[in-house]
Amino acid sequence: MSIKILLDKCTGCTLCVKGCPFAAISMIEMEAEAKPKKKASINLDVCTLCGACVATCKFGAIELKKELTAAKDLSAYKNVWVFAEQREGKIQSVTYELLSEGRKLAADLKCELAAVLCGDQNIEDEVEHLYRFGANKVYLITHQELKHYHTEPYTRAIAEAITKHKPEIFLLGATTQGRDLAARLAIRIGAGLTADCTSLAIDPEKKILQQTRPAFGGNIMATIVSPNHRPQMSTVRPKVFKKSPLDKPAAGELIKFSPVLNKEDLVVKLLDIVQDESVKVNLAEAEIIVSGGRGIGDSKNFAMLEELAALLGGAVGASRATVDAGWISAHHQVGQTGKTVSPKLYIACGISGKIQHLVGMQSADTIVAINKDPDAPIFKVATYGIVADVLEIIPLLTRKLKELRQ
Ligand SMILES: Cc1cc2nc3c(=O)[nH]c(=O)nc-3n(C[C@H](O)[C@H](O)[C@H](O)COP(=O)(O)OP(=O)(O)OC[C@H]3O[C@@H](n4cnc5c(N)ncnc54)[C@H](O)[C@@H]3O)c2cc1C
Repeated sequence: MSIKILLDKCTGCTLCVKGCPFAAISMIEMEAEAKPKKKASINLDVCTLCGACVATCKFGAIELKKELTAAKDLSAYKNVWVFAEQREGKIQSVTYELLSEGRKLAADLKCELAAVLCGDQNIEDEVEHLYRFGANKVYLITHQELKHYHTEPYTRAIAEAITKHKPEIFLLGATTQGRDLAARLAIRIGAGLTADCTSLAIDPEKKILQQTRPAFGGNIMATIVSPNHRPQMSTVRPKVFKKSPLDKPAAGELIKFSPVLNKEDLVVKLLDIVQDESVKVNLAEAEIIVSGGRGIGDSKNFAMLEELAALLGGAVGASRATVDAGWISAHHQVGQTGKTVSPKLYIACGISGKIQHLVGMQSADTIVAINKDPDAPIFKVATYGIVADVLEIIPLLTRKLKELRQ
């Protein structure tokens, strides 16, 4: 994309200066005989090409050129790709979830499923896991600078692979890495991107990807398509899809390459890795979650839930209301703006079950809801419902469990 002021049309009215949300336009002096004396000028270091100024200019004096990728031959793009996210040399679970879902998309499109794995030379040991979850091909991109995730070298290397091999769909985890990489890549290669999808499907007629995600604060589910750009890119949070390995031994094709990384791709240096406190909570991986909502009445009552969770070998979750109230840290929050979880057992204690909470936990195998209000929406998704005071039920449950243990 490019932008410029058409000086012959600029009247010096300054509307664009006021209309630019990024303060990227200023008025500059013209030559002595020019009329008007000052005209608009765009600072391209600050301009984001958002187009707001084009809309404010009444004289058609700003030209924003978009190079439409619609002109690309879309039929040249084939196959479903998954970004194989690794940390400390281990492939992250979200990769297997995306491969498991990617298998269905690839089957509907009658195409291949591939994974893209970046790392240093030692990462090759991880490749076989990707085959086990259905990857027909693995693009292995190795370089010393790819050992740990960095935005620029990863973007450079994967953009090169996409440009060369032309995948039709590219899925990434909506994790810190995936979100960062997806946005940068989408701009670099001129692709459409839908973040935080909760379901993916192939339109049976048009054969394009339908990307569904909550919108307007979770009040509607929007299905987004990217008909004119390739690849169609989506991020999906961990635990939205279930991982299912193939039931037979699998192998695939390994395509290796080492990217050329320039000096400008390596401007960020990794000094230290500090363990994220939320990893200790490990909510996303927990098989049992005891989760508290505003109905528990007080921050100190989380101790009750912690005791029960510890007895069950599980973790403590929370609704946003309790996090906002400062009762518990945000690392515990389940829901649209918290974590998506899919445990075997989810015990919702004093949680009303607003849609923003449900989208984060409704795929749990068994949901037990304890709520005083028999009409609370949580009961609509609950496997078992207990209409009672949670502050009475939890101690009873804990006592019973202790007795059984003895
Ligand atoms: C953009 C956006 C994003 C959001 N993201 C999230 C998110 O990620 N996660 C999330 O949780 N929320 C999220 N929310 C907030 C969400 O809409 C709800 O406000 C929140 O989930 C309510 O939390 P709660 O169920 O604990 O509280 P409440 O809605 O106040 O419900 C408390 C429940 O406890 C019951 N109760 C009261 N006393 C007792 C008792 N003694 N025993 C048993 N039951 C009792 C009540 O009947 C009630 O059903 C989001 C909202 C928006 C707009």
